[in-house]
Amino acid sequence: MTTGFKITEVKAREILDSRGNPTVEVDLKAGNIIKRALIPSGASTGSYEAVELRDNEKRYMGKGVLKAVSNVNNIIAKEIIGMDCRNQEEIDDRMIELDGTKNKSVLGANAILGVSIAAAKVSARLMDIPLHERLAQLSNNKNEFIMPVPQMNVMNGGKHAGIDNDPQEHMLMPIGAKSFAEAVRMCAETYQTLKGLLKQKYGAGGTNIADEGGFAPPMQSVEERLELMLKAVEDAGYAGKIKFALDPAASEFYRDGIYNVRGKEMTSLEMVDFYKGLIDKFGIISIEDGFAENDFTGFAAMTKEVGKRVQIVGDDLLVTNVERINMALDSSACNSLLLKVNQVGTLTEAISAASLAFKNNWTVVVSHRSGETEDPFIADLVMGIGANQTKFGAPARSDRCAKYNELMRIEDQLGSKVKYAKLSFGN
Ligand code: PEP
Ligand code: MG
Repeated sequence: MTTGFKITEVKAREILDSRGNPTVEVDLKAGNIIKRALIPSGASTGSYEAVELRDNEKRYMGKGVLKAVSNVNNIIAKEIIGMDCRNQEEIDDRMIELDGTKNKSVLGANAILGVSIAAAKVSARLMDIPLHERLAQLSNNKNEFIMPVPQMNVMNGGKHAGIDNDPQEHMLMPIGAKSFAEAVRMCAETYQTLKGLLKQKYGAGGTNIADEGGFAPPMQSVEERLELMLKAVEDAGYAGKIKFALDPAASEFYRDGIYNVRGKEMTSLEMVDFYKGLIDKFGIISIEDGFAENDFTGFAAMTKEVGKRVQIVGDDLLVTNVERINMALDSSACNSLLLKVNQVGTLTEAISAASLAFKNNWTVVVSHRSGETEDPFIADLVMGIGANQTKFGAPARSDRCAKYNELMRIEDQLGSKVKYAKLSFGN
């Protein structure tokens, strides 16, 4: 090994995420380069996700992450120091082995992931290539880089807005854009138009925002929200160019075989009809977690019914985990993977999850968490693995815009040779 690539320092600390809760950040040094990774955190988390280690002590209402920080500084560092930062798989495997559990409950996925991402960033810098190029190498992606279509969450509900039994995300998909910068502009103008409509209807209080930067007005139904989003799209001049996506996060309103959507109780099959009605009325082209995390039958019924024209995405269902993806493949439960790196806890495992999805002709959507940070890492990740779609929240608030801005920089640097993705569905 060239000594210049040897990891010489690993240092974690506790910082705050976008919700004001503690999270882990890791600084990693090799050669004369130090890079930093900041770890996000979910709220509507799937029960099969890798463990986010919290202190469960008095400070920060139990949410402190000093144990995870200490695990990096006192346990992981010793093992990782001296390794070549380019050997991503070896680094990740060493940490998985050190943890020794299936769900990373000893060291914490938040501790492990910080080191994993920081190593990738340092290696890119030392190899003198952009991070997205390094991530393309790591995922063996030899295709031309393509700018992704964003799913932008402009109306927030459910757990992210403090509302029970309520679908969570109502998103814009600017499929008619010519470039990523234009996609951002179309969505940002629609977001501001929607803000104006909400202000007219409810006064300033109607424009309050929730965790991912989308509005959380006092509306009673999904239909009412989509109706106003449709008007905002039309008023902004983008009719037909912006389609809609939903993430109901249905595990949050499912109990004992019944889905409760704002007081309306439905079975799995009735939910399929409910979604079909929304798809036809509002031009919805993607639905994520329309069913609870163990309702493979509901997912499969939906995929059978509309899967040729609508993207059926698994989030809590799949938790970026190869085993869960194989279960979904066996039951034809969906046709798309939502990729959240912290659901699984290492970059190598997240890349394996994406590869398995691509191999089976699924689409892949690279996603943020509802609790985010200013780290734009996932912008490079979506380019690197060639996922063609992102889910980074509203075109507002710096924790979300950090990712959009990074993609606009990448597009600018790649110049006219880079194309905006054309999706295989919804046109
Ligand atoms: C989601 O459910 O897709 C999401 C981004 O929310 P969270 O991070 O709370 O799981
Ligand atoms: Mg989700």
